[in-house]
Amino acid sequence: MESQNAGSDHPPQGLTRRQLLARAAALPAVSSELTSPSAPAVAERGVYLNVPSPLPPLTIHDWDEREWSRYLDLLTASRFNRLYFYLWQNEQSDFAADPAHKARNRRLHESLRKMIGLAHRRGMKVTFLFCPTFMPRVLWTQRPELHADIEYVRAGFPCLCPSRPDSWSLMRDVYRHELEWFRQADGFQLWFYDPGGCMCAECRRDITAPLVRQAEEFREMSRRIQPRAEFQISLWPVWEWESRLKIRYGLELLDRLKERFGEAHREIAITDSMDDPRSFLNAAKERGFRTQAFLFLTHVETPFLFLFPQFDYLKRTVARLAAAGYSGAFVHSLTPGSKALNTCLSGLALWNPAASEDELAYSVSLLFTGKPEAARRLAPALRLWERLILEGSPKPEEARELRRQAEETIALLSDERRRRLIWLPESAQAMEILVEGAASLNDPTQMVRLTARFRALLESTHTFRAYAPQGAAEFRRMAQWLAGGWRREHF
Ligand SMILES: [Zn+2]
Repeated sequence: MESQNAGSDHPPQGLTRRQLLARAAALPAVSSELTSPSAPAVAERGVYLNVPSPLPPLTIHDWDEREWSRYLDLLTASRFNRLYFYLWQNEQSDFAADPAHKARNRRLHESLRKMIGLAHRRGMKVTFLFCPTFMPRVLWTQRPELHADIEYVRAGFPCLCPSRPDSWSLMRDVYRHELEWFRQADGFQLWFYDPGGCMCAECRRDITAPLVRQAEEFREMSRRIQPRAEFQISLWPVWEWESRLKIRYGLELLDRLKERFGEAHREIAITDSMDDPRSFLNAAKERGFRTQAFLFLTHVETPFLFLFPQFDYLKRTVARLAAAGYSGAFVHSLTPGSKALNTCLSGLALWNPAASEDELAYSVSLLFTGKPEAARRLAPALRLWERLILEGSPKPEEARELRRQAEETIALLSDERRRRLIWLPESAQAMEILVEGAASLNDPTQMVRLTARFRALLESTHTFRAYAPQGAAEFRRMAQWLAGGWRREHF
């Protein structure tokens, strides 16, 4: 097992490990109970930052060095020691970018490259995620003969068929360029699907062959670009394809990868779902691979971009994780502008699953407010927040109480802190209208009125302005989730 930064190649500049630990202890962030375990439950604790289409300030697109530093400080104070990131290459590639987005995409690459250095200074390792069959749209549109046959393409995503020989030079060109951009990363993680992959007749003839070839070629490429980088392979969501296609191929894929890489397979990490019972993590562990569990706390397809403190989910999941003995875990994040607190709560839980929900609530509140008085106000609000989402039939008076607690919390803070936490009262105000909606689903006139109020509120906020049209369009769906209780789905 390891202490906080064990396994890192990047001690912060000029700091010894002893000084680093002293500095971490000096943060007002984490209560002593949570810093006490000498051996965390999960050795590698990561955040997977998925970079979607720009929706600032919810997404990272406008972040400068100060904003990145603040975020990375929150992550390290929450005991994360890994950061993973994925860039949607269809619209955000630097290779063959759409002329309209060329400058924006370049800035994004520069920002993420700078982030890697900032993370290293804090002792964090960084992994770049990529899906070789997923293409920049401008390039893909020019080569219709290479298009994949898979539902992602029908949903509008530009994917290539890896059984066409000409696809390979495109895949290599695009991803050599992207891997070079992030050559200072400590790891590269290959995804076959989601979005990407192909299920044409040729690909299905020997379904694991194009996957094994991707693993081989791109591991080789990543080693040429960065010899010290770890290589990881995601099996998400092979289990789902197995069910739909009625073809079992996940175990065969693991066996072929093991055979192909020989003893080196022990250095390769397989990543897969923590939540789906069909996940291949245990099969990978039995075969000697390293294993990293993916916790999908933010669901891309749901429009719910408001805070959701997931004490209940974390309590159940982290206990299973600790017992399973995987090498690491990483939690999904899409809109840190409104959900960084969700993420930090996960980090604290991964560090010490024995901590009670109240301890976790207080610690994460102290981390964000920096002030015990404000943390004492916010911690019970976070527990109430979760209950309003999970339990169904939420009470409007409780949602009003939640908004009051959020407003009282930030009233206790300095102007600067208050500006940084503006998403908190804004999210609580949105929750108040959503809860009213949950109680008014059968009243069409009231629903029209509430939807208009919801949209006007979002438009008036700093955090959710750009999201207002989508938020209003999804108002009914979100209110329905709250009415029924959102226990089965996590996001
Ligand atoms: Zn194909």
